[in-house]
Amino acid sequence: MPRLLLVEDEPGLVLTLTDRLTSEGFEVESATDGESGFKLALSNQFDILILDVMLPKKNGFDIIRDLRQRGIETPVLMLTARGQVVDKVVGLKLGADDYLTKPFDMMELMVRLEVLLRRRSYVPPASGDTYQFGELELNFKKGSILKSGKPVELTAQEFRLLKYLVEHPGQVISRDELLTEVWGIDASLTTRTVDVHMSWLRQKLEENPKFPARIVTVHGLGYRWEGAGK
Ligand code: CA
Repeated sequence: MPRLLLVEDEPGLVLTLTDRLTSEGFEVESATDGESGFKLALSNQFDILILDVMLPKKNGFDIIRDLRQRGIETPVLMLTARGQVVDKVVGLKLGADDYLTKPFDMMELMVRLEVLLRRRSYVPPASGDTYQFGELELNFKKGSILKSGKPVELTAQEFRLLKYLVEHPGQVISRDELLTEVWGIDASLTTRTVDVHMSWLRQKLEENPKFPARIVTVHGLGYRWEGAGK
């Protein structure tokens, strides 16, 4: 049963949504102000969040920004008021996955939630050894990396680094963790080593290495492999 957190301050809407979502098989918890909503979301025990933008104490934008900064990657559907185009843009930039304009159709909401949940539960193909990420095809057993069907030459270290990233999709991985797990502890290494290797990997794998879509920098924290999406 997917666990959903609803952060919304209109009591009527909370009631309607909770009823409907529960009958659709969601386990619903709700918060009516931004601060308590944020605290609940931080527990990271939800599969999906519905966030209203205008909320008492802490608005939806601040909530999503602070969650993403802390590495909480729960999919977020934002609710915006009619005509607030700016809201949508800002929300998506800050890390919302989708938005819906009030008033909305319940069916529409269900469809959006389903899409977000499916995206989250993305798992590598059952064939086991081969991972497909858009134009990238990675087979760690065979040691073959293809980009748009063409082989990419990786050094052993780059290979190990990539494997570690891909095996921890969507998680923030710190430089220290990478040094310990991928390089093994070695006093001569610094976190700068990680950055240099990341930049080499990006050059080889990213469509546009300056704006990496797969190997994402999480400011102040480390890196994250973006496995979902195209
Ligand atoms: Ca509101």
